[in-house]
Amino acid sequence: MYKHMKQFVSHYLLDHLTKDDVVVDATVGNGNDTLFLCEIAKMVYGFDIQQQAIDSTKAYLKSFKKKNVKLILDSHEHLLNYVKDFKGVVFNLGYLPRSDKTITTTKETTLNTLNSLTAYLKPDMFIVITCYPGHEAGLIEAEAVRTFSYNLDDTFNVLAYQFIKKPQAPFVIVIEKRQEKSVN
Ligand code: SAH
Repeated sequence: MYKHMKQFVSHYLLDHLTKDDVVVDATVGNGNDTLFLCEIAKMVYGFDIQQQAIDSTKAYLKSFKKKNVKLILDSHEHLLNYVKDFKGVVFNLGYLPRSDKTITTTKETTLNTLNSLTAYLKPDMFIVITCYPGHEAGLIEAEAVRTFSYNLDDTFNVLAYQFIKKPQAPFVIVIEKRQEKSVN
């Protein structure tokens, strides 16, 4: 068992991404996940609505000499305007640690993006979402993500990784578009 959601997510990503894949980091924040994705994928597109997150991540990645990344100051709601050919999209919801706690991902924008992404997803593409129900807005968002995922049709595999006796603890939802069934 992985005690930290981060460990589960890292293992999932290592299993599902290769150096030939393009991946999207929908919530760059302080850039730790972006750095990890740069190490395991061919190219990373990173989104954040905070200039501060984009700037500090740019400097952070430069210090590791990472060049296979494009950071974009825009909401992940518009990500399909920038990149269409990718293997997966990774969300780390909530607010930037040690920063303005009022700038958090929201139920509305996250659901908007999940709606357009799941309509777009092709077989073998995936979405990984780490949810944080430990604060008030996070709980509303986490429940919305769970309900949305639960209601997806059976062209998707949907997984929740969660300590089921700890409703306040972070949890992960994975959405995969299934291989199309053969015709016979
Ligand atoms: N909870 C995580 C960090 C999340 S950071 C942890 O504990 O490590 C979430 C980031 O998402 C923030 O930097 C915030 O600016 C960004 N964000 C919020 N709404 C967004 C949106 N619509 N599109 C892209 N990024 C967004």
